[in-house]
Parts: sequence; C-alpha cells; structure tokens
Amino acid sequence: MLQVTSPSLAPIEDFANILSTAWESGVLTHNGPLLRDLEHQIKNRLSLDRYIAVVNGTLALQMAIRALHLKGTIIVPAFTWIASVSSIQWEGCKVKFCDIDEETLNISLSSLEKEINEDVVAVMPVHAFGNPCPVKEIAAFAKRYSIKVIYDAAHAFGSTYNGKSVLSYGDISCTSTHATKIFNTGEGGGLIPSTDALSKRLERLRFFGYNSDKQIEDIGTNGKMTEIHAALGLANLKFLEKTFQHRRILNELYRDELQSFGRVKFQQISEGSNYSYFPLIFNSADDMLAAQSALIGDHFIPRRYFYPSLNTVPQCADDSTMPASESIASRILCIPCSNSVSVDDAWRIAKLIRSN
Ligand SMILES: *Cc1c(COP(=O)(O)O)cnc(C)c1O
Repeated sequence: MLQVTSPSLAPIEDFANILSTAWESGVLTHNGPLLRDLEHQIKNRLSLDRYIAVVNGTLALQMAIRALHLKGTIIVPAFTWIASVSSIQWEGCKVKFCDIDEETLNISLSSLEKEINEDVVAVMPVHAFGNPCPVKEIAAFAKRYSIKVIYDAAHAFGSTYNGKSVLSYGDISCTSTHATKIFNTGEGGGLIPSTDALSKRLERLRFFGYNSDKQIEDIGTNGKMTEIHAALGLANLKFLEKTFQHRRILNELYRDELQSFGRVKFQQISEGSNYSYFPLIFNSADDMLAAQSALIGDHFIPRRYFYPSLNTVPQCADDSTMPASESIASRILCIPCSNSVSVDDAWRIAKLIRSN
C-alpha cells in the first residue's frame, strides 16, 4: 500500500539522540532549547529573518488573523484545504471565495478584482501544491485596496520566489509541518511575519498573551510546539535536501512518462516550486475515477485533492459559483509522490494511468 504522501522520516536513532537531551533536561515544552534550535535552523536553511513554530498550520492561520487585528471579510480561493476557510471563520471573520487560474491552480487575479469590495480586509492566497503564487501582483493588488495578505503556505516549505523563500512574502506567511507535508514535525506549523512588531505579538499570542516582562498584554492562546515535535523536526531537517531532490526526480519522471498521454494535463509550475505533490488534471471526472480505481487495484493510493471545491460545501458555501475551482476539483488526482515512492513505483504508476 503506497499512499499519496507518507512522512519523510529520519532514522529513528537520529530522533532518539536529539530527544535524549530533553530527557536529560526535563524540558518538554515552553520555548525549550530544541524548539529554539529548530527555529534557528529553519531560518538559516531558508534564509528567513523570522520563524515562529507553533502546534499546527491551522492555528498559525488563526494567529495570523489575530495578530493583524482583522475584522471583516477575507477572500480565499475555493480550491484549498478546509483549514484555510475554517481558520477565517474561527476568528470571526467572513469568508468570501474567489476562483483560481486553471493552469497554475493558484488564485486568479481577475477573480480577485471581481470579488473585492469595501468589506474586504485581507486576502489569503494559497501556494497550491508548492507552486508559488504571483506574489508581486498580489502585493500590488493589496496595496491598491489597502488590504492585508496572509499566505497559506502550508505546501510551500522550501519553495522560492525571485530566488527567496516564498515564505518571506505577505504580511504574514503560514506554513504547516504536518506529517504529510514535505518537511514535518508530526504535527506543527510555522509563522513568518514581515515585521519584528508582528513577531513579538505572535510570540505573545503563542504563550497565552504574556509578553517578555511576564505581563498579560494580549488575549493569547496555547500555540506552543513541544520539544518532542521540535526534536523530530531537527532530525528530519537533515534529510530535507534529499527529500527535495527525490520529489524533483519523481516530478520529472511523471511528466516524461505522461506527457504524450492525451487524457491528462499538468499543473503549470513556476520556477521555485518545491514539487511537493504531483497533481494530474484529467480531461473528465470519469477518466479520473478510472485511473483512481486502476491505481487502487494495484495498491497505490492516490487522493482527490483538493476536493470538493469549498464554495460547494454546505458548511461554508456562500452561493457563489467558481467555475475553474469546481471544474478542477472534480477531475484532479494527486498521485503518490513521497520518499517512499521509488523510481520503479513511479514508473509503474505512470504505466497504470497510461494503459487505462
Ligand atoms: C495542511 C494544510 C493546512 C493545515 O495545516 P495543519 O498543520 O494540518 O493544521 C492548511 N492549508 C493547507 C492548504 C494545507 O494543505
């Protein structure tokens, strides 16, 4: 059984070695040495000025909304994971969907122009599958309408834009280090704010609102990453380069093997993508379902992702129609793409899809 993604894991001895320092110190959480080391190493590795590790990517999004004092409507693409939408709702803001570009699968600038109104206080673009959004155009749009930008960069750890980590853009970027993401700490997330003031505020929000003088300055939450999760991150970080390389190899192989197969299209990738996932866009939902059964029949587990288009989900629907998002969601399939997928597996997966 080969899942669509499986955790990229360091050897358990590496994890145990790092973890043993926590056993010695007795520090299991609360801004401990392993957490600080992890934040430091991530900043170094991605050349980031700031990185605040938290319990998960969903809370990172919620904390970003809080830190920016947002009250009002936030525009989000309908083609995303439910956490982008639920985090907006949990922070008491209103969700307004917009559509995506059918080629890049990222937010559509023309749809953004259509959806903007005076209630909108922010936009939350998603770097879908690690493919960087048109960051420059989004920044210009946000400036023109005086709104904030929070990136849902859950897929984009290691992606770059203009040669810099894509996490360094927007008022705040939020990433996820969940087990299925390209870099993982089991559960986890990270906030990358654009200013030191936001950084201070987020550190307070992470620790119940306490500032460094031990005063309650904000109504915060408990967003602290434990030392155990940080230790896993430190162990996995050593294998990050290998993970990136392997994804790139799988991506190229899939593209080569499926290029001439007439029934699928690929996501149009900008330079700087981390190749986190391999989405295939079938010409029809029936073709997609046939490929899905063929793969499952051979113990390869693909995933309909993102599916369904969130503007059609009753719990968050807003009567909008998002033609591109709805169409793509109905016929997209992410095929297995992780460190557990060997070149032979990938070759076989491509063959199964072709011969269907
Ligand atoms: C994974 C994911 C999240 C949520 O991250 P968690 O760490 O699982 O809470 C949010 N948005 C997108 C697009 C994701 O893929």
